[in-house]
Amino acid sequence: MAGPRLVVATTNRHKLREIRAVLDGLGTVIDGLDAFPPVAEPEETGATFAENARQKAVYYSSALGVPVVAEDSGLEIDGLGGEPGVRSARYGGPDRPAYEQKFALVYAGLRDRGASGSPARFVCALTLADGARVVFEALGTIEGRIADEPAGAGGFGYDPIFFYPPLGRTLAQLDEREKAGVSHRGRAFRQLRAFLASGGPLRGE
Ligand code: IMP
Repeated sequence: MAGPRLVVATTNRHKLREIRAVLDGLGTVIDGLDAFPPVAEPEETGATFAENARQKAVYYSSALGVPVVAEDSGLEIDGLGGEPGVRSARYGGPDRPAYEQKFALVYAGLRDRGASGSPARFVCALTLADGARVVFEALGTIEGRIADEPAGAGGFGYDPIFFYPPLGRTLAQLDEREKAGVSHRGRAFRQLRAFLASGGPLRGE
């Protein structure tokens, strides 16, 4: 019989695959938003990843009538004053230019400021909501620096320009399992996994 169901508020198949890999074996069925008829996207108005994750989780859980976990994530580059941060997906303009253009903006900005190779981190905030009720929250980060040039073909988004010194590679040069082992998303969702495994409300209630 299928186990309890958890809906992840994303249509990003990369994120969903990474999240499924971390939650694998719990006996929980993980669905993305694609498993539902389309719901209008909420605006992302929060000033922090945590605020955005909370807004999205409560919005989708209330709209769909099932528990929903939402995550908000992005890249903070110290040499750019924390940019692109919560605007990571929209960086470079509202029409969301290709990542090659986003990378070019990052490299030009860092060169202008004499900050090439700047320290940077990915952040992932997650919220599990049941209707308007926030059930669980977690934050995961990974610290690294901007690579000298983009490298690697794995992952998604800014992975090719994020160099992770402990493994001597960019996140795009890691396979999925390696990335999940060290990434902001892996770190945040392992906390959710522990919560669910210890009898979080998807089970008992
Ligand atoms: P969100 O979907 O609004 O949370 O936007 C997150 C954005 O941050 C993504 O579209 C990517 O640009 C970036 N991002 C978040 N996590 C990752 C990651 O694991 N690798 C690369 N880029 C990421």
